[in-house]
Amino acid sequence: MIADTDLRPGEVTVDVAPPRDAALYFIGRIRTPWTSRLDTPRQGSPEGPVCRLEIFDPWVPALKGIDFYTHLEVIYWLHRSRRDLVIQRPKHEEEKTRGTFSLRSPVRPNPLGTSTVRFVALEGNTVLVRGLDCLDETPLIDLKPDRCVFSPLSQQQLQGADGT
Ligand code: SAM
Repeated sequence: MIADTDLRPGEVTVDVAPPRDAALYFIGRIRTPWTSRLDTPRQGSPEGPVCRLEIFDPWVPALKGIDFYTHLEVIYWLHRSRRDLVIQRPKHEEEKTRGTFSLRSPVRPNPLGTSTVRFVALEGNTVLVRGLDCLDETPLIDLKPDRCVFSPLSQQQLQGADGT
C-alpha cells in the first residue's frame, strides 16, 4: 500500500514555502462512504452512491434555489494530498512519469477537486448528490449550477441552428 506521502521511482518534489496568499472559507463538509484513498473512485459516476454535502452556518441560506438544477458543480479541497510534487508516476501508467499539470491527480500545489454531480434532494442544510470521488470529511469549497444547465442560450441557439 502506498501511503499519502510516499514517492514512486522518478517522482520529483520541490521545496515550497508555506502558502500565505489565498484564504478560503470551507462552506461545509462532504460525507461519502470512502475512508481510504485506495477505495475512492478516481472519478465520480452518476450511478455512484448518494453522498451528502453538509453546509455550515452561516452559508445555509445560500442553498435557496439549488433544487432547481439537475446537475451541480462541486469544488472541494483534497485535504490529504501532498502539495510539492511536480513530476508524478501515476498508478495507472506505471512506466511513465508526467508533469502535475498534465494530470487530474489529487496531488498538486493547490489540491482543488471538481466534480459534476447529479442533484438528488435538499434536506435542510444538506444537499444529496451522486457522482463524487472524495474521502469522507473532505472540506467543501463551493457549489454552483453546472455550466451546461445554467448558461443562457446564445442568440444562435435562440434563432435555431441554421440562424433563422
Ligand atoms: N474529480 C476530481 C477532479 O478531477 O478534480 C478529483 C479527482 S482525484 C483523481 C480523485 C482521487 O483523489 C481519489 O481517487 C482519491 O485517491 C483522492 N482523494 C479523494 N479525496 C481526497 C482527499 N480529501 N484528500 C486527498 N486525496 C483525496
